[in-house]
Amino acid sequence: MDTIEKLGVLSADSRFDLACACGTNRDDHRRRGQEGKWLYPVALPQGGYSVLLKTLLSNTCKNDCGYCPLRSGTDITRCTLQPEEVANVFMDYVRRRKVFGLFLSSGVIGNPDNTMDRINAVARLLRQRHQFKGYIHLKVIPGASEAAIEDSFALASAVSLNIETPGKKRFELLSGQKDYMRDIIGPMKFMSRLRQQGGRAEKVKCTTQFIVGASDETDSEIIEYMSGIYNKLRFNRVYFSAYQKGLGRPSIPGEQTRLPDPDYVFAREHRLYQVDFLMRRYGFSKTDIPLASDGNLSLEKDPKELWASMHPEFFPVRINTACRESLLKVPGFGPQTVTGIIRLRREGLIRHLEELGLKGKRLGKARPFVVCE
Ligand code: SF4
Repeated sequence: MDTIEKLGVLSADSRFDLACACGTNRDDHRRRGQEGKWLYPVALPQGGYSVLLKTLLSNTCKNDCGYCPLRSGTDITRCTLQPEEVANVFMDYVRRRKVFGLFLSSGVIGNPDNTMDRINAVARLLRQRHQFKGYIHLKVIPGASEAAIEDSFALASAVSLNIETPGKKRFELLSGQKDYMRDIIGPMKFMSRLRQQGGRAEKVKCTTQFIVGASDETDSEIIEYMSGIYNKLRFNRVYFSAYQKGLGRPSIPGEQTRLPDPDYVFAREHRLYQVDFLMRRYGFSKTDIPLASDGNLSLEKDPKELWASMHPEFFPVRINTACRESLLKVPGFGPQTVTGIIRLRREGLIRHLEELGLKGKRLGKARPFVVCE
């Protein structure tokens, strides 16, 4: 295969990894660039949007993760790009203003550090030979050494290592080769420590991803881990990828019975993103998140509305005097609305909800929970 053919295969295979904010695997979150490669409009962890070339360096992999179509032994077309090939094609795209950044991941070629060396070599070529100063997101391969991770931090704008499951027991259902504590949690803790040391590493964004629905995990387990990832490890973003039935090994425990409806797992993924927003942007803690007795989120009602309906003692919130945190708890109010309220009330009393510019459903959601006197 020539470089373009390989890139066609490897960029398509990278679609299963969402840890660069590429949306929730609907095709309309991405578009085809020239030569058929996928380009991803992405929300960057530090805010703002960009268009990334997203690809794997290689889709060969020595591991056997049960949820992954690239695992060893599956019958797919395998190929590997050399670091120079990726750097040259990417810079060609940059010069033609087709992309503004790179998301680079890979299957495990031989061992984790051999793979990291290749991934870091691409970033080094871009930074040093091509003087590229834009966005580079590098994947940390599970089991990577501290030296290899430090190298990534010296080159990247963002790095990610997918946690995949909430806990070791769940992880063991999916992988017989990777060790959860040694290969994933250890490196994630090291990434966190590196950032706390300050300097360039402090500015490198860290993200991770859970695969949802592949290991019989509950939402409460994911939320518990998510809280630790934000509050203890201080990662910037947590992403969720709905496990797609059929991509993985049919022997994943319970696969045949657990996912009767493909929409179910996407609905779960959506609710988890809502919880992520509540914890990251709305000041909710893990104990605020309403869960059913089976440890899962309601699929019928969004978690913020559910919280409001379970806490009548908290409402009504007084628009003209309430603090930012209280206003953020009102269904229909987002951070932007709340900033607007605080700005408006500096100019005088807010007498009607309509003054906030809310319309339709959002206005209807908020009305029972606030007063304007
Ligand atoms: S390490 Fe696991 S998840 Fe990553 S490419 Fe290999 S089989 Fe897939």
